[in-house]
Amino acid sequence: METTTLPVITSDKEMLVPLHWVHTLVIGSGAAGLNAAVQLSRNNVQDVLILTEGLEKGTSINTGSDKQTYYKLSLCGSESDSPQAMAESYIGGGAMHGDLALVEASLSSRAFINLVNLGMPFPRDAYGQFVGYKTDHDPRQRATSIGPYTSREMCHHLISEVKRLKIPIHENREVIQLIRSDNDEQRIVAAITMDKNNSIEVYAAENIIFAVGGPGGLYKTSVYPEVHFGAIGLALMAGAKARNLPESQYGLASTRFRWNVSGTYMQVIPRFISRAADGISDEQEFLPTYFDSASEMNGNIFLKGYQWPFDARKAIGGSSIIDILVYIETVEKGRRVYLDFTRNSQGYNLEELPEEVRTYLIRSEALQQTPIERLYKMNPAAIELYRDHGIDLHQEALEIAVCAQHNNGGLAGSIWWESTNIKHFFPIGEVNGSHGVNRPGGTALNSGQVGGFRAAEYIAACYMDWSLPKKQVENAILTSLKQLLSWIKTGENQKVKYQEALDDLQSRMTRVGAHIRSEQAIKSEVKDAKLLVEQLIKNGCSCTKIEDLRITFRVRQLAFAHLVYLDAIQFMLENRVGSRGSSIVLDLNGSRVHNKLKDSWKIQLEDSSFRQKILITNIGDDGSITHAWEAVRPIPKTDAWFETAWAAFRNGEIYGCKEMS
Ligand SMILES: Cc1cc2nc3c(=O)[nH]c(=O)nc-3n(C[C@H](O)[C@H](O)[C@H](O)COP(=O)(O)OP(=O)(O)OC[C@H]3O[C@@H](n4cnc5c(N)ncnc54)[C@H](O)[C@@H]3O)c2cc1C
Repeated sequence: METTTLPVITSDKEMLVPLHWVHTLVIGSGAAGLNAAVQLSRNNVQDVLILTEGLEKGTSINTGSDKQTYYKLSLCGSESDSPQAMAESYIGGGAMHGDLALVEASLSSRAFINLVNLGMPFPRDAYGQFVGYKTDHDPRQRATSIGPYTSREMCHHLISEVKRLKIPIHENREVIQLIRSDNDEQRIVAAITMDKNNSIEVYAAENIIFAVGGPGGLYKTSVYPEVHFGAIGLALMAGAKARNLPESQYGLASTRFRWNVSGTYMQVIPRFISRAADGISDEQEFLPTYFDSASEMNGNIFLKGYQWPFDARKAIGGSSIIDILVYIETVEKGRRVYLDFTRNSQGYNLEELPEEVRTYLIRSEALQQTPIERLYKMNPAAIELYRDHGIDLHQEALEIAVCAQHNNGGLAGSIWWESTNIKHFFPIGEVNGSHGVNRPGGTALNSGQVGGFRAAEYIAACYMDWSLPKKQVENAILTSLKQLLSWIKTGENQKVKYQEALDDLQSRMTRVGAHIRSEQAIKSEVKDAKLLVEQLIKNGCSCTKIEDLRITFRVRQLAFAHLVYLDAIQFMLENRVGSRGSSIVLDLNGSRVHNKLKDSWKIQLEDSSFRQKILITNIGDDGSITHAWEAVRPIPKTDAWFETAWAAFRNGEIYGCKEMS
């Protein structure tokens, strides 16, 4: 890396901005970014830098779940598996390109073994077989886990490797803007960062691996870690194409300490209670009024254990009714919902539970009197986990909500994870929208690792030489810096405060851009979102204190992202795609969700033809947002004849970027 300084002169200011030149910049140090850096080094790309808010930031190192899942090719016993079969499981969820599915499947074993070789204790038997289990949307036993903190441990092992390889890391820097080159070529050539003291630096790079995670900061009710906001908005502002943005996953999670209440938390059948907005008064057990029998209610609560994400297919007559009833209490009635593990739900009686539930509890020897005792029997660590975060489930009820957890969509990448419209820019990890409507559990972590392998290999094969015209890049940087400083200045007297703007956009996303959607409701919200973006982007920064400057930039990109997401959702609603994946569409002419809910709870059924299409979102240079449908590409039929495949590999034909010899 080479560092110079750039004098930036405006009408009232002159400042010297450090400018770093690096061959390949990795932005983000989650599981995806870290592995990308390791793979770059292994591919002999020497001049690499990891730029990050911090090694302790992001989703991977701060999250987990009951049994956090990693998905890979089955490597155990006599169960047959193949990249093709695995790719079929991927595309089975709909709206995913077959070639991307084949890549994620093909590289899954390599990515997994890499983690094993770094020391990840994935369970194996005496013969070295990696035992697995079935995860959701998976016909085989491809899933594995090391417990609640799989992704955190992946980060720890990858950080050790990054340090061993002496890959430099610049921490405590937040990217606040990506800079496009000002010639015809679509390139993002640099990133502007700000640290805690508002110091600005610029990183210019031949290649950028963009590994900034999912859009955690977009939602009010979210199970993304509180420290994680994501930065897809920066790439959208720079004109990167997106794919399947509206496809996300939502589910029940605790909110004081953010954690999915899946698995045993539900299988012990806790009591669902709601209280007034003060969180103290007017306690009610609200579920029983909606069910004909306690057995039906308890059966549905139990099922939420392994039917965790909110699922449109389980909205009518399935367990997702529980999520809907929680939403009605929290969003429609403005109350707060809790799980009470100290007492049984109304009418709880082992003998009257559905057969499946009774058998499960009997086989698990979980026949104790109360949910907390059953939880202690089946999974004592689940109680410890909350105790470690200051919540004693023996004493207090656990506040929950339906929370945003993962974005299946994101930026659009090629089979080498390069942006489909911005060369040398590689979105990987959750910010890359390779997935469709549904995906097998654990594929997020696999996809992040695969993206690192692909981008690194492609850069090593195709993008080793410097192609950036330095003078031109410096000019583009200067222009951007001047605009940025003027944005800060213009906004000094603005009325929009960043805290209010953040609250506004997050509430809007949770209200109309999460698991409950409607064409009627979204129209005015898109208009309001546009207004907010105009106020923030066009009118300048609105921070009252200089310390707020960095966060204001963050809110700016989040605001733009929320507008793009909502616009994409609106487009889907107008196209009458219907209820699918992890969201339902309210429609007065639709089908009733539940006979005890009012007419407004009728939903539009899915038009399944859209499972063969992918939603592409384009951002124009003027910030205009347009959408189009792209046909799903099938899984490629490859000619696996060794001699020819070997030749294509040897001469670099597989990368599609080289002159063939
Ligand atoms: C509760 C929960 C449970 C989950 N369970 C599973 C599971 O069982 N299986 C599975 O496969 N997936 C699961 N996921 C999803 C999975 O954890 C994430 O998709 C994955 O960890 C994302 O990794 P990443 O590297 O892409 O992003 P992250 O780990 O979020 O890393 C992003 C990095 O980018 C940095 N960054 C962001 N913005 C900026 C900026 N502006 N400037 C500089 N740096 C920036 C961050 O600081 C961080 O270092 C779960 C997610 C949640 C929330």
